[in-house]
Amino acid sequence: MMGHPAGNPYARLFNQLPFPTVVLNREMVVEAVNQVFLKRYGLSEDQVLGHRCHEVFYQSESVCPENRCHFAEALAGQDNCFNLHHYVNRAGEEVFEEIHLVALRDDQGEVEGVLEIVRDISQAKRLEASLTETNEFLHRLLNSMVGVVVAADMDGKILFVNQSVKRVLDFEPEELVGKPLTMLGPPEDLRQARRLLDNSRGQVQGVRTKVFTKIGEEVPVRLNSSYVYRDGAPVATVGIFTDLREKLKMEDHLVQARMQVVHSEKLARLGRMAAGIAHELNNPLTGITVYAELLKESLPPDHPAQNDLNYIIEDTERCRDIVRGLLEYSRQGELQVEDTDISEVVEDAFNLIRDNSVFMHVEVVRHYFPEPLMIQGDKKLLRQVFINLLMNAVDAMDGRGTLTVTTYLDAEDFRCVEVSDTGGGIDQENLRRVFDPFFTTKAVGKGTGLGLSVAFGVITRHGGEISVKETGQQGTTFLVRLPAEAPHELLAFARAYKPQPRG
Ligand code: ADP
Repeated sequence: MMGHPAGNPYARLFNQLPFPTVVLNREMVVEAVNQVFLKRYGLSEDQVLGHRCHEVFYQSESVCPENRCHFAEALAGQDNCFNLHHYVNRAGEEVFEEIHLVALRDDQGEVEGVLEIVRDISQAKRLEASLTETNEFLHRLLNSMVGVVVAADMDGKILFVNQSVKRVLDFEPEELVGKPLTMLGPPEDLRQARRLLDNSRGQVQGVRTKVFTKIGEEVPVRLNSSYVYRDGAPVATVGIFTDLREKLKMEDHLVQARMQVVHSEKLARLGRMAAGIAHELNNPLTGITVYAELLKESLPPDHPAQNDLNYIIEDTERCRDIVRGLLEYSRQGELQVEDTDISEVVEDAFNLIRDNSVFMHVEVVRHYFPEPLMIQGDKKLLRQVFINLLMNAVDAMDGRGTLTVTTYLDAEDFRCVEVSDTGGGIDQENLRRVFDPFFTTKAVGKGTGLGLSVAFGVITRHGGEISVKETGQQGTTFLVRLPAEAPHELLAFARAYKPQPRG
């Protein structure tokens, strides 16, 4: 039997201990209990003394399982034994206790019992739980951010990176933690970012820089970064960057769209000017032809001036062709809009020029869509467009090669015509200018530089598009796309400028 604390000089001390404490003998029976214990559990001495530990703590007849109770270890003299006790008290609060078990030894050093000291750790547990909750919340918050968040220590080792890194750079966050920041960006850019931080009181906003994807592709980003301070000294850096690829793409589109507007305004101005000149030239040219013809008729057929007159008439005809082109380009000509099959228009265009000697050594391949590709348009103007494209194709091949014409319906229900040649292609620097009026690379007298600009005017007026689909050493493909229905303006224009019956 152990010495009862009451009978020993430390009994008062035992009672003054701030922790609820009981003394158990080797059979787990409570031999002493302090006042704090009785008060804490609202028990009387009788309800505690002489009862076994599990009866007092758990109101249970059976001994607690070994994984929960370390009494045996404490009895064996092991240090640092404690049981965890978790319950809901009468006030409905969750209570967490650590019950420390300390071996009590007699004068010979033999363990004669165990001292159980209760330490309430509810407060700490609650703090821990709320900390975990806060941590989880912060984690979720960081991971739901659109931007990529990267924290690194002062040596540039990555400490944390959020889930967005997967979407933006294709890295799993785990692949980056512990690795150097240079996995994400060029060393020089990182040094520069650090210098900026040093020079801007530890906070930098909106810096344009670049980072790498997992396969080493560069991604332009906007970076906000700052130092994390502890006791006034920087201990880490945090960077948040956003992917600029989409934004830059949009900006490029905008610039292109703006350039197109400028281009079409330029073309419109040129068109008006061309129309003015064409009108002015039309009358004198008609005069020259008529008077040359009259002179020709008034001279005998073998007169030496006949040849010169022929030259005058031919050249004047060429000038009138140019004037006609200018008028078409400037959209001043007459218009007749009707429903028509675009494959048929292409075939008509081809038939009009096929006998030209330049076609002699050209193989022509035609792939027409099996059904009519109906559009609303001016047949004559559209035919002229395809004549221009076909003649350009043949010119590009110097009369030798394969000319392929294909018509089809595309995914957006546009009626498409492709004219491909096996010529030398269009130089990159000329590519932007081929649709400009008067742009030509052909010899003087061979090209007017109006063919494609007329084609451009006619096709855009029909609500369609004309473009160089492909060009290179293997040849060039021009693509014309036309909608099924003509735009209202074209139909209105056609009504207003109905061709007058001749005669
Ligand atoms: P032109 O034929 O009178 O020169 P266009 O406006 O029809 O005028 O064409 C402008 C220029 O575009 C041509 O001079 C030529 O340099 C280029 N081009 C047009 N079509 C082709 C083609 N199929 N292959 C190569 N270059 C072409």
